[in-house]
Amino acid sequence: MTTTDFGSAALSTPRSVLIDGIGMLVTNDPELGEGLLGAIDDAALAVEDGRVAWVGPRSRVPSTDARIDAAGRCVIPGFVDSHSHIVFAGDRSQEFGARMSGRPYTAGGIRATVAATRAAADTELLGTATRLLRECNAQGTTTLEIKSGYGLSVAEEERALRVAARLTDETTFLGAHIVPPEYADDPGGYVDLVTGPMLEACAPHARWIDVFCERGAFDEEASRRVLTAGQRHGLLARVHGNQLEAGPGVRLAVSVGAASVDHCTHLSPEDVAALAESVRDGEGTVATLLPGVDFSTRQPYPDARALLDAGAVVALASDCNPGSCFTSSIAFCIALAVREMRMTPEEALWAATAGGARALRRTDVGHLAPGARADITLLNAPNHVYLAYRAGVPQTAAVWKNGALVAGRP
Ligand SMILES: [Zn+2]
Repeated sequence: MTTTDFGSAALSTPRSVLIDGIGMLVTNDPELGEGLLGAIDDAALAVEDGRVAWVGPRSRVPSTDARIDAAGRCVIPGFVDSHSHIVFAGDRSQEFGARMSGRPYTAGGIRATVAATRAAADTELLGTATRLLRECNAQGTTTLEIKSGYGLSVAEEERALRVAARLTDETTFLGAHIVPPEYADDPGGYVDLVTGPMLEACAPHARWIDVFCERGAFDEEASRRVLTAGQRHGLLARVHGNQLEAGPGVRLAVSVGAASVDHCTHLSPEDVAALAESVRDGEGTVATLLPGVDFSTRQPYPDARALLDAGAVVALASDCNPGSCFTSSIAFCIALAVREMRMTPEEALWAATAGGARALRRTDVGHLAPGARADITLLNAPNHVYLAYRAGVPQTAAVWKNGALVAGRP
């Protein structure tokens, strides 16, 4: 056997590679290892044709064509970041600075990004989004959902989704992000546009339909119209809700069978119960928490403990966007979830991997059982607790997506 990195050749050449000497392997499959994370100490993992072929203790490794020595470090599934807005132009660092100096956050800041995005060339939008996707990869994210929502016209929303579709399969039509200035006097007319011609143009480029169900954005009735129109076009529903105040977002998301309701910063006991009951009924609605937003807008953090203790499924995502949270670091979100939201390190890592996969209704990512996509992160750490323990410190040694190295070196 030779020591090698299994770069892009792994996609085209059918051969097997063993990552050996893993100090702790997180599989997220409790049948394969210990606890919620299905953790195996002193482990190895074999990859073949872009998929996980075998995992287990080092004492029983299969023979493979090549071998990588993890040298006692930790291997985790690639992060599944189920919420981002990286197709945009412009800079809102001044707004952030002002907010940190005492001005409250309102949804209206989105309009600044809309103006800049509409003025940008296609190449600028794709360039920025590509750079941010690479930044995500370098920090261990291997699946990234990307939304439209800074175009807010038929042509601009379609353009944003065409850009997003160059970078991910998980594209979300968010024409109902806010009402654009030209419809300020006719918000109902804007909902007609979103559910009519804009949806017609955007549905072919999107997997998901989303709406910002919040005071200052779209009320419950308008939000329901948007989601059900999208569903009639074959899109799956997800919702921005309960970010700025307790509202109808969670209730609406559960009632339309949305895969996820995102933010959940302000939840009633009824909201928590509805989310928990929805997952007991089957696929259900995941509560996707975005603690980077609460950090960057100086909001309270969501009550993750109430959700988890009630039996709801919780995901963690970045919400990477230029206004309310410009981080692409899921490790940072994990650290916030552990320190500020009292999630255990195990719960937080699960939420950022398997939880994100649930929020995207994906079974091929977010875990490292045999058959899963070989979306793998090798940490420069002996175990996953370091993600929160060494907050703010880069700890990603190498990242593979579909078995191909996309960042770092093993
Ligand atoms: Zn968002």
